[in-house]
Amino acid sequence: MSEEIISTNFITDFVVEDTAEGGAYEGKKVHTRFPPEPNGYLHIGHAKAICVDFGTAERFGGICNLRMDDTNPTKEDVEYVDAIKEDIHWLGFDWDDRFYFASQYFDDMYGFAVELIRKGLAYVCELTPEQMRENRGDLTTPATSPYRDRPVEESLGLFERMKNGEFPDGSMTLRAKIDLASGNFNMRDPVIYRINRIPHHRTGDKWCIYPMYDFAHPIEDAMEGITHSLCTLEFEAHRPLYDWVINNITAPCKPRQIEFARLGINNTVMSKRKLRQLVEDGYVAGWDDPRMPTLCGLRRRGYTPAAIRSFCERIGVTKVNSTVEYSFLENCLRDDLNENAQRVMCVLDPVRLVITNYPEGKTESFEVENNPQREEDGTRTITFSRELYIEAGDFLEEKVKGYNRFYPGNEVRLKSAYIVKCTGCEKDENGKVTTVFAEYDPETRGGDTPDGRKVRGTVHWVNTGDCIEAEVRLYDNLFTDPEPDTGDKNFLDYINPESLRIMTGCKIESSVKGAEAPKSYQFMRLGYFCIDSDSKPDALVFNRSVSLKDGFKKK
Ligand code: ATP
Ligand code: MG
Repeated sequence: MSEEIISTNFITDFVVEDTAEGGAYEGKKVHTRFPPEPNGYLHIGHAKAICVDFGTAERFGGICNLRMDDTNPTKEDVEYVDAIKEDIHWLGFDWDDRFYFASQYFDDMYGFAVELIRKGLAYVCELTPEQMRENRGDLTTPATSPYRDRPVEESLGLFERMKNGEFPDGSMTLRAKIDLASGNFNMRDPVIYRINRIPHHRTGDKWCIYPMYDFAHPIEDAMEGITHSLCTLEFEAHRPLYDWVINNITAPCKPRQIEFARLGINNTVMSKRKLRQLVEDGYVAGWDDPRMPTLCGLRRRGYTPAAIRSFCERIGVTKVNSTVEYSFLENCLRDDLNENAQRVMCVLDPVRLVITNYPEGKTESFEVENNPQREEDGTRTITFSRELYIEAGDFLEEKVKGYNRFYPGNEVRLKSAYIVKCTGCEKDENGKVTTVFAEYDPETRGGDTPDGRKVRGTVHWVNTGDCIEAEVRLYDNLFTDPEPDTGDKNFLDYINPESLRIMTGCKIESSVKGAEAPKSYQFMRLGYFCIDSDSKPDALVFNRSVSLKDGFKKK
């Protein structure tokens, strides 16, 4: 990847300080990591973290590791590992051969735990989880544990027996001996190992004790020589513990944790657990449903890596949590597709238009630009004949103020073809318009009036003779509430029943023949659409990626 290396922000300022003369990492290569837990597909929030982690390293000529954070054996699922890799590559980042699993450091973690016990900095505690909660104290009362002062040798023996599987799940823990009175509850002798007999997808039955995240993560970072461990704001209060671990073990290096704000987007949910529920309970068609904020969903929807990277760059990196409007993300896609998408004409809700004074059996061709933004994209041929399709919504039987499209007596421009004058319509027994009639002005080929007369309305159309039938899927927000999972709301109560509208029998110009997913187009006057993975050569399916209009309003 090249164009947008991350701009300066408070993290890059820290890195500049740290790598400068006299800084903690003077002369060292900047080394970051992206550590997803492989319990679901990546979402747009992860894209932000990926851009920050890989982008920061890249900006300083450093490197970034990819590490599966699989210390918690209950939730991992190997299915997700390959998908995570695919999504990161798709975004345009690469970890080279630096792909790791946190579980590969289990032996090291065990060794460092023993080191802490030996130094009198950890002890085996026999309080049950409930008892520990009861004894955690409050702001004015310290926590207590009757096991805190047990001899080092005793803890060493018990810890080894914990590892050997001699005690039941939950009966004992290993706790760091830090400060039972700390105002930061994370420092009140936090549990660093627990007994949990769950086989691990990589280490199998080897372990029945597993390290807690706050103990494991700094060790993983240190083992990989990470200089800057970038994570989200909820870990800020855990940083003293991160540093405590690093400073009290014989760590091969001393990484610095820096926290930044999590990304939230309105009208959607972002936690993998909730996204998985949407998939498993059938609210969406899968992780890659185009309504999902997952990277595979956005990709299928027609999002490009450039649009997502530009979004991450434009929202910036700060320490203030905020929710970004969905329309801001859409704007980034619109900007990209406006520049890059080929223009075509597609009629979503067709009604026949007959040009009564145009010769029967005649077909004309027009060479039109593929993209007025980019001449180098060349031209394509569209055909015109006596019978066309226009949008049903582009015809009214009677004039309405401000309406410039088809109504009897009005002149309208058929985009790139001719000016035609509407002469009337034909209806079926239910009063539904089946055909609109018009007469064309042969002097207006290409759509210009030689006498300079004003024609206000321009509509898109396709030729009935060679257009292709297509299914078009229109999407709206998955949730009706802007913040469906805040407070005690149940996000499932706010599912938008109209988030997917399927239009069948749409008519698209013949030039799209043979196109395959994920090609994107601008359907003139309608928006940006891409070919869906369900599409077949003889049964085209398009997704609306984003409408043409900018719905973004500054708060
Ligand atoms: P989730 O609740 O979606 O599972 P998580 O934080 O548990 O989120 P991880 O797989 O542990 O997900 O995340 C990997 C990295 O991505 C972490 O460093 C995490 O801080 C970051 N990350 C996750 N969600 C967001 C978000 N919404 N915005 C920014 N960074 C995020
Ligand atoms: Mg997680």
